[in-house]
Amino acid sequence: MKRMALLVLAFALFMPSALRAYPAKPALEVAVLGSGGPRAFGRAGSSYLVLVEGTPRILVDAGPGAFLRIGELELDLEKVDTVLLTHLHIDHSADLAAFFNARALTSDGPVSYRIFGPDGTGVFPKTSRFVDLLVGDGGAFAYQKTFGAQESFAVRDLPISLASPRTKIVDEDGGLVVEEIATHHDDCPSVAYRISYKGATVVFSGDMDASALPNLVQLAKNADLLIFNCAVLDPPDSPSQLYDLHTPPKKIGEAARSSAVKSLLLSHLAPDVEGQQPAVRKSIRASYAGPVAFATDKMRILVKK
Ligand SMILES: [Zn+2]
Repeated sequence: MKRMALLVLAFALFMPSALRAYPAKPALEVAVLGSGGPRAFGRAGSSYLVLVEGTPRILVDAGPGAFLRIGELELDLEKVDTVLLTHLHIDHSADLAAFFNARALTSDGPVSYRIFGPDGTGVFPKTSRFVDLLVGDGGAFAYQKTFGAQESFAVRDLPISLASPRTKIVDEDGGLVVEEIATHHDDCPSVAYRISYKGATVVFSGDMDASALPNLVQLAKNADLLIFNCAVLDPPDSPSQLYDLHTPPKKIGEAARSSAVKSLLLSHLAPDVEGQQPAVRKSIRASYAGPVAFATDKMRILVKK
């Protein structure tokens, strides 16, 4: 036994520092299932799984390709009970039914979901109606509710006016907290989320134009990691109508600085953004001095380093 203790000590001393810095069960970790947007160019649409103490618990968006990435990463869905939808564009929600399917087939017992997403307006249904259209009685995949496991869905529609206050929507005894605030994505109702657990905090911007930055800055204050959707280049290098939908890099950098986030991950990448990474990084650097990274599908990130 003494020899074993020495071996463990030797391993701890000589283990590469990068490995040593990665705790066995980090408070919060993010698995990027999809780092792309609506264009088909090899990245899955936006989707993430948030792991709490090493266990996947929260699905954030369900863009097309999420189902495939879950399988590739061999992620265990058994404890996923929370779904946060930033908005209901196809590149963020089209794999939701496929996710329900995958999750039900990993479970023997009943599955209870709490699902959050924006209220509806115009051509966009509220989130509760969206879930109903998919898996409710008379929905396209009504069979799913009893396919593999008995499923139930508690859906809460979140306010979409920019004047709505930041709201706590999950507050577990164990310390897991989720907060949200309305953002703005042209005519599509949208919200951003903040997830905190044991001193680690990650914020998901979702898709938003710059008019919602005051809300985002407020929500992201002092977060360890801000995952910001970066789908356009600085003006005038993207089609002008896209600035009604997305925030350009220069303003992302300013928001990262104003909110004092400790690190920034750019995701929801478009082909032109992917091809201009040095320029995007430089634009963000003009305001923000913290670490900046570009997401890739299947990347896993510690929220608190
Ligand atoms: Zn999108």
